[in-house]
Amino acid sequence: MLNSPEGYDRAAHVQAIIDVIPSPIFVKNKAHRIVMLNSSACEFFGHSRESLLNYPDNTLFPAEEVRVFHEADDRVFLGGEDDESEEQITDAAGCLRSVITRKRLVHLDNTDYLVGIVTDITAYRASQAHSHYLAFHDTLTGLANRALLAERIDQALLRSVHHYALLYIDLDRFKMVNDIHGHQAGDELIRMFGARLSGIVRACDTVARLGGDEFAILLANAADKPNAAEVCRRVLTAASDVFELPGGQVTVSASIGVVFARTEDIGEIELQRRADIALYRAKGDGRGCARIFTDALDQAVRHSQVFEAELREALATVGLELHYQPLVSLVTGQVEGFEALIRWQHPTRGLVMPNDFIPMAEASGLIVPLGEWVLARACADAASWVPPLHLSVNVSPLQFAHGDLAAMVERVVGESGIDPSRLELEITEGVLVHDAERGVALLNRIRALGVRIVLDDFGTGYSSLSYFRQFPFDKVKIDRSFVADMLTNSHARSIVEAVISLGRGLDLQVVAEGVETMDQLALLQEQGCAQAQGYLISRPMPISYFVGSALRAR
Ligand code: C2E
Ligand code: CA
Ligand code: CA
Repeated sequence: MLNSPEGYDRAAHVQAIIDVIPSPIFVKNKAHRIVMLNSSACEFFGHSRESLLNYPDNTLFPAEEVRVFHEADDRVFLGGEDDESEEQITDAAGCLRSVITRKRLVHLDNTDYLVGIVTDITAYRASQAHSHYLAFHDTLTGLANRALLAERIDQALLRSVHHYALLYIDLDRFKMVNDIHGHQAGDELIRMFGARLSGIVRACDTVARLGGDEFAILLANAADKPNAAEVCRRVLTAASDVFELPGGQVTVSASIGVVFARTEDIGEIELQRRADIALYRAKGDGRGCARIFTDALDQAVRHSQVFEAELREALATVGLELHYQPLVSLVTGQVEGFEALIRWQHPTRGLVMPNDFIPMAEASGLIVPLGEWVLARACADAASWVPPLHLSVNVSPLQFAHGDLAAMVERVVGESGIDPSRLELEITEGVLVHDAERGVALLNRIRALGVRIVLDDFGTGYSSLSYFRQFPFDKVKIDRSFVADMLTNSHARSIVEAVISLGRGLDLQVVAEGVETMDQLALLQEQGCAQAQGYLISRPMPISYFVGSALRAR
């Protein structure tokens, strides 16, 4: 073909020209046979000129690809229009390449031919796919990201005729891992936890990382309650199983918020809000657990969120105050010190007592700045008291878990100018139950400052005697429930006696709280208890109430 009548070899001429063109070019006839092609086509397809010229009688390309090529050929031959289509081609090395092939009908020597020019867009498509992947995946874990989760939820809302469930998962104490073991270990933990999550769901479910230590699982189709409960159980185990990190072994726990929904119920944004509410409750209920969204829960959480915002506000302004309750010596009858007790002047509720907001402050983490405020305020108040009057301040176990409590105490005490030996910190056994090692280390550092450490509420909870072996407390406070019962209940009375003699043996000062009657006072005195505190002596009052009495020099 293509030869000119004068003996001029047109074919060789054209071949020489097209061989210079860097893009792969081929010419096909109506029978799909390649009748001419350039060198770069041979190079691109990775086959010899001879085998390509024999195409399609050989098996250069997979049948499915050949079918697609021929469909495009036919569009050109039958319709006469130019065709431009993106195709996948398997090259000689077996690699799949993405190409755009432009095909045009040419009429030569009364015959229809098709000229094809190929543009390789493999690299472009790969980078597109990569940026698409990046846009919808979390780089650290390779899990779906927030955007992809939202898309999957939308799809579930459109498609699913079943119930499905959305789980929001938050690692508890993750910040501590970061603080103690470093960010690299934190990243590794996140990666490992993500992999564990992927391992516990079905292929049709979506595991996503929403950022930080927040994850989500969308259980698609038939996510009935037993199934979701099983997944929750496995998520909790996935979190609590030991993580072997470069810096050592770590255990954490997870809180989970679950929401069930059906197709027509609600939109994606509302669904995520509900999962968030359930998660908030799981954290409020002490973490390490799962909670399911209900309307009642929604109401309760809305209220507590308002309450929490109000407390934040009170902390930032002057909505909080301290009342002080004296501790008296049962030997001399003198006031020896005061315990600071926090009060919240609420704009509409009036005076709110600590039992009504300390748990919420602990759940929200607000206890950390609140605890610092209390210590600073109390030390500032007490700095002007006449020595040796001492100050007792309550410290929440959660203050031990976050930040550097010992450094905070040192700084605040230093700033106030109070002699550290006049300060007592009252802690509860919570400090020694969870992460005792950290608790004891912090207590030792605080005690090294000269601050005395009191074990509060003794007799409640586990009240293990081993606490006294773990840490040399300066003082132990018998819980008021024993004092209240000691005259009517012989067991309560025996326990009070036992703690007093324990104090004698261990050289610990013993103080009884909640003393309300003269009879209680007399019995404590008789048993050799050193100090007492209670309504009988005085209710907690603003410090101004005591000015001029107990605060005066003796
Ligand atoms: P707590 O440390 O055991 O404090 C003693 C509680 O007993 C105080 O309650 C006090 O008012 C009350 N009380 C004193 N004498 C008597 C009495 O004779 N009879 C009876 N029934 N109760 C008496 P309050 O002030 O309501 O504090 C409750 C708890 O809140 C405290 O228990 C403490 O655990 C916590 N708390 C108070 N202030 C703070 C604070 O600044 N930081 C932290 N972390 N916790 C605080
Ligand atoms: Ca106390
Ligand atoms: Ca107490």
